[in-house]
Amino acid sequence: MQRVYNFAAGPAVMPEEALATAAREMLCYGDTGMSVMEMSHRSKAYQDIFDGTEALVRELMGVPQSYAVLFIQGGATGQFAGIPMNLMTGSGRADYVDSGVFAHGAMVEARKYGTANCVASSRDEGYVRIPTLEASKFDPNADYFYITTNNTIYGTKYPELPETGNVPLVADMSSNILSEPYDVGKFALIFAGAQKNIGPAGFALVIVRRDLIGRAMKITPNIFDYKVMDEAGSMLNTPPTYAVYMAGLCLKWLKGVGGVEGIAEVNRMKANLLYDYLDESALFKPVADRACRSIMNVTFRTGDEATDAEFIKGAAKAGLTNLKGHRSAGGMRASIYNAMPVEGVRALVEFMKNFEMGRK
Ligand SMILES: *Cc1c(COP(=O)(O)O)cnc(C)c1O
Repeated sequence: MQRVYNFAAGPAVMPEEALATAAREMLCYGDTGMSVMEMSHRSKAYQDIFDGTEALVRELMGVPQSYAVLFIQGGATGQFAGIPMNLMTGSGRADYVDSGVFAHGAMVEARKYGTANCVASSRDEGYVRIPTLEASKFDPNADYFYITTNNTIYGTKYPELPETGNVPLVADMSSNILSEPYDVGKFALIFAGAQKNIGPAGFALVIVRRDLIGRAMKITPNIFDYKVMDEAGSMLNTPPTYAVYMAGLCLKWLKGVGGVEGIAEVNRMKANLLYDYLDESALFKPVADRACRSIMNVTFRTGDEATDAEFIKGAAKAGLTNLKGHRSAGGMRASIYNAMPVEGVRALVEFMKNFEMGRK
């Protein structure tokens, strides 16, 4: 069986090098005589793995010491609740930008805990762009301002970050974390489900400014309470041990290929290969607004559902899999995360060209 080019949105492609190392270490990690999966999370060998993963996150993203780096179960969706429970405790209000289904879901979840104001939405346009933000609509007393930097389903990305003054900026970076440099200092909190650009599924990475820790609502479960989790080194209870180990292997690979700066260049090149072709194709049309194009998720369609389906099927046969768009968006989506090699994108563009020619 040959490996395919997997364009899935998440869980997604991982670096082959990381998978090969995991395979090599599967039965016996170092001189421990056991698999990482079998280790006590309280053992020295495992603590070193855990600490190593956190250190790589800090190094690769340039996380200042004034921020805590936490691994919390429940995925990104868990943080849709975790964030208001921890942060919506001053005025009890927060501003949300509705730029996609995940952003919308986060806003609705937050309303269980306080007032989540929608300051802008592109819902009526099918989320094909990041909505225009008007600072006059921002609440100066909001406990935080919430954005989704990259909208996985629609393939949109903020061309620039909103200016929120003293209001803490909170970002769901699930699908573009580590894909290009971001100044962590501009954010009060960054979080991401692990299964897109970090490693396998199993946790959310939460990077949070320490001065925002320790004001959680009383009802906050301990496993979601940033203060409790920070004091416990993210090990209040058994963490997703193997997922954190795998994430560490993926981050090690990322460091080896030039870190975030290095991969950003490759990511832009990969995205340009696709967008350049889409812009000239008579058959395939890019979906996302040009000004907000994601370099991680590229959405396109032919305009005819039967042709889309034929394309997706043919591509899968050629070893280019999971190109079907999200069920709520239709069309096609190529997720080209860090671990997708340039050759995979070249093969996809080649296949698209041939498919288009074959229809003339
Ligand atoms: C995938 C995704 C989520 C949901 O992640 P889970 O870990 O499955 O909860 C949330 N936000 C964005 C932007 C995503 O891409």
